[in-house]
Amino acid sequence: MPVGANNADREYFQFHKTMDSSLPHIGQAIRSRTTGDWIIPISRRVNDSVGNFAGVVLATIELAYFDRFFDRFDIGTKGVITLAMADGTVLARRPTMENVRGASIADGELFRKYLKERYEGTATVQSVLDHEIRLYGYKRLDRYPLVVLAGLSEHEVLDEWRQYAWRSLAIIVCVVVANLLFGVLLFQQIRFGLNAESQLRIASHSLEKLALQDSLTGLANRRHFQEILGLEFANGQANLHPLSLIMIDIDFFKSYNDNYGHVAGDKCIIAVAECIRSNLNRTGDLAVRYGGEEMAVFLPYSEAQGAFQLAEKIRQSVLARAIEHQGNPSGIVSISLGVYGCQTQECPTMEAFVERADAALYIAKHEGRNRTEIWQGGGSL
Ligand code: GH3
Ligand code: MG
Ligand code: MG
Repeated sequence: MPVGANNADREYFQFHKTMDSSLPHIGQAIRSRTTGDWIIPISRRVNDSVGNFAGVVLATIELAYFDRFFDRFDIGTKGVITLAMADGTVLARRPTMENVRGASIADGELFRKYLKERYEGTATVQSVLDHEIRLYGYKRLDRYPLVVLAGLSEHEVLDEWRQYAWRSLAIIVCVVVANLLFGVLLFQQIRFGLNAESQLRIASHSLEKLALQDSLTGLANRRHFQEILGLEFANGQANLHPLSLIMIDIDFFKSYNDNYGHVAGDKCIIAVAECIRSNLNRTGDLAVRYGGEEMAVFLPYSEAQGAFQLAEKIRQSVLARAIEHQGNPSGIVSISLGVYGCQTQECPTMEAFVERADAALYIAKHEGRNRTEIWQGGGSL
């Protein structure tokens, strides 16, 4: 019991003395005369039996209590918690500032605008004390004329959000770049695959050609000829249209080789092949190097007479080249040709078909060479 203590001059004492109300009164934060600590006085009027003012009952809350209590919340480095009177007078604040107790924040937007509209809510406003923009949650208490504000710095809140956004963006960029790289790699692989495939196709095409072509003359080789002929004679196909074959052999070729050498001999074979090729104009016609200096022309859809005319044209072409050949009585390279043609329904076997053209060639040789003979029948053929 402090000796001689008198609080009659305190604001709360004067308040109760003049106001005849039994409601509790919360006063401004003041310094206790007994302990020297900052306190918030909470008081009530006491009446005597007839209702006159008889005194005041006082309880105090030490403001340090609020400081300890506010410390328990995570409000970041720039956050704030304020306990204020309903009229805007600050009772306690974290962080504390010089002269903040008793200062008024009634001019702030929260008091001017938001608390007038609603007793409880959230708002983004600028502090009147430190000018920091914060996201506030505010509430005016129901039973006491007190307001509690808790604010987080917009910077800090957004910083966290920004960091999160940047992190997300970085991850998205990484994923997009990885996708792009993957796409480019995939594209290259597909292009590489397509290239390889087309090269393979070209290679297999050339191989196919090599397997069917005579390397010296570029004409079909004997294997190709046999294949085509086999197809034509299989399943009676050969009987659906006329077929002809011209067998060709260079005259006195052995002596040509002897006189001019093998290399010249090869060139001569090539020249004769060109003469044959240049006279063919139907797509189905097939010129063949049959073997050595023997060549042949297979003519599906041609009769013997047509084949004979073509054979003569080829023979004339060779003569027109006038390749010197001392071993030939005519002094130039000549060829002998044997023609065989069969009509629809009358074609013999494949072997006989070739042998008859060969027999006609034999006759051409026998008759003096440099001529064309058509197979006339007879013999075992
Ligand atoms: P014929 O008029 O009766 O046909 O008389 P020929 O001398 O031409 O007789 P034959 O047709 O039997 O001669 C074939 C000769 O052709 C044998 C060989 O010296 C020559 N020969 C065969 N193949 C080739 C070849 O690829 N290159 C060359 N340079 N000569 C070949
Ligand atoms: Mg020969
Ligand atoms: Mg010959």
